[in-house]
Amino acid sequence: MTLRRTKIVATLGPATASLEKIEELILAGMDVARLNFSHGSADSHREKAQILRTLAKKHNKSIAIMGDLQGPKIRISRFRDREVTLFVGQEFTLSNQHPTELGDEHIVGIDYPSLVADCHPGDELLLDDGRIVLQVTDVDAASVHTQVLVGGTLSNNKGINRRGGGISAESLTDKDRADILICAELQLDYIAVSFPRYGSDITAARELVLAAGSNAWIIAKIERAEAVADDTALDDIIKVSDGVMVARGDLGVEIGDARLAGIQKRIIHHARTHNKLVITATQMMESMISSPIPTRAEVSDVANAVLDYTDAVMLSGESASGNYPVEAVSAMARICLGAELEPISTTSKHRLGETFTRCDETIALSTMYAANHFPGIKAIISLSESGLTPLIMSRIRSGVPIYCFTRHITTQRRAALFRGVYPLLFDATKHDINAIGQAAISVLQQDALLSAGDWVILTQGGLHADSGGTNTMTILQVN
Ligand code: ATP
Ligand code: MG
Ligand code: MG
Repeated sequence: MTLRRTKIVATLGPATASLEKIEELILAGMDVARLNFSHGSADSHREKAQILRTLAKKHNKSIAIMGDLQGPKIRISRFRDREVTLFVGQEFTLSNQHPTELGDEHIVGIDYPSLVADCHPGDELLLDDGRIVLQVTDVDAASVHTQVLVGGTLSNNKGINRRGGGISAESLTDKDRADILICAELQLDYIAVSFPRYGSDITAARELVLAAGSNAWIIAKIERAEAVADDTALDDIIKVSDGVMVARGDLGVEIGDARLAGIQKRIIHHARTHNKLVITATQMMESMISSPIPTRAEVSDVANAVLDYTDAVMLSGESASGNYPVEAVSAMARICLGAELEPISTTSKHRLGETFTRCDETIALSTMYAANHFPGIKAIISLSESGLTPLIMSRIRSGVPIYCFTRHITTQRRAALFRGVYPLLFDATKHDINAIGQAAISVLQQDALLSAGDWVILTQGGLHADSGGTNTMTILQVN
C-alpha cells in the first residue's frame, strides 16, 4: 500500500457545510480543514469544527483544523442580489457611505475608510485575486470612482488590492483579535495570519494566541511584496512562524504573476531549511469550481508543488463554494501520489554539508540518513510529545513513512499536516520501557503496514521527556 505523503488542505464553505459533504471530503483525502474567518459567521465555524471532530473520531482519522484570520484585507461589502456583472469600460464606484447590503452594478460599499486616502487617479485596483481590474478615475471624500478595465462577475465580500501593493495597514485587526478567541475556544490546531509584513507581526499574533489559552501553531501567509522583498525579509517571518503559506492570490497581485513560480520555490526551500511547514495555496484546481476534471495546467501546478516538496496543497473556492469539492480533493490526492512516484520526490541531497544545533535535530536527521540509505527500513516510528522530531525528519526527502506516535491528541491532529508523517495515538508511558518498540511495531503490523523481516527505526526521549527531548535512535527488526 502506497501512502500519500503530500497533505491536502481544503477550505470549508457553503458547498461543504453539511456532515455528509464533510464526510465525503475526509474519505476523499482531506487532511486539514481550513475555516476562513473572512467568510461565514462564528456559529457556522463552530458547527463545522464540531462536525469535523465527530467525523475524525468516527473514521479514526487525524484531521487538523486551521483557522485563517481575515487580516487587514480590504473588501467590498455585499450586493443586493449577491453578485453583479461588470463590463469593460463602464463606471463603478466603491464608497464608504453606501449601505453595506445594497451594492449594485454601479456602486458597492467598502469597510475601509482610508482606501479613499490611499488611492489616486491612475491607480489600478484588483478585486477577487485579480479577476476584476478597475482603474481609478477620481477620488472624493467618501468614494473612489473607477472605470472597469477587466470585467466579469463580482460577488459579495471580495478582496481589493492595489497593483504594486501598499494599501493594507496594521496587521492584526479588532476582528482578528476576536476571531483568535474563537479559534482558542474551538481548540483549532493551526491559526493562519494574513498579510504579515515582518516577523514582529507573527510574534504579536503568537502573544494573543497564547494569551487566549491556545497552543495552535502559527502559519504566516506570505502574500505581501514586503515579505518577499529579499531573503532576509522572508527568513525574518519564517523563523518566528511554525509554518508558512504561499498565498498566491494576493501575492500574485502584489508582485506580479510572472514572479510567482520562482518565489514559490524559494519560499518552500527556505521554510524547509528552517524546519518549518509550508502550504501551497490558491487556484490550484480553479477550473474545478465548475468542471469535474482539472486542466492539464492545474494538474501540472499541483504536481510541481509536490516536486518542490511542499507539505500540503490547498483548495480554496474549489472546496468552499465550487460544484465539485469532493472531486477536487480526489483529483489532488491522485496527482500527489503520481508526482511522488518521481525519484526526486524521495531522494535527498539535503544538508549533507551542514552542522546541527540540537540533539533532537541530530537524531532526526541521522534517522533520515539511515532510512534513505538502508533499503530494508520500511518505517520510522518517532515517539513524540510536540511533533517536533517528526517535523524535522519530514523536512528531508524520503519515501519511508514517518509514524508520529504520540499520547497527545493535539499533537496527533497537528501532525496531519506534515508531509510523509502519519500520526497515531499511542501512550508510551503505559508500556515497560524495554517493550515500547515491540508494542509500537505491533500497532503497525495490525494495520498491515509492516511485515516480518522489515526493519524499523525507532526514536524516543526519556519517559516523560519534554518537547525537544528526543535523544535515542534504535534499529529494530520485525519478527
Ligand atoms: P483569502 O484571501 O483569505 O484566501 P478569499 O476571499 O480568497 O480569502 P477563499 O477561502 O480563498 O477566500 O475562498 C474562495 C471563495 O470561496 C471566497 O471568496 C468565497 O466566495 C467562498 N467562501 C469561502 N469560505 C466561505 C464561507 N465560509 N462562506 C461563504 N463563502 C465562502
Ligand atoms: Mg489571500
Ligand atoms: Mg483566496
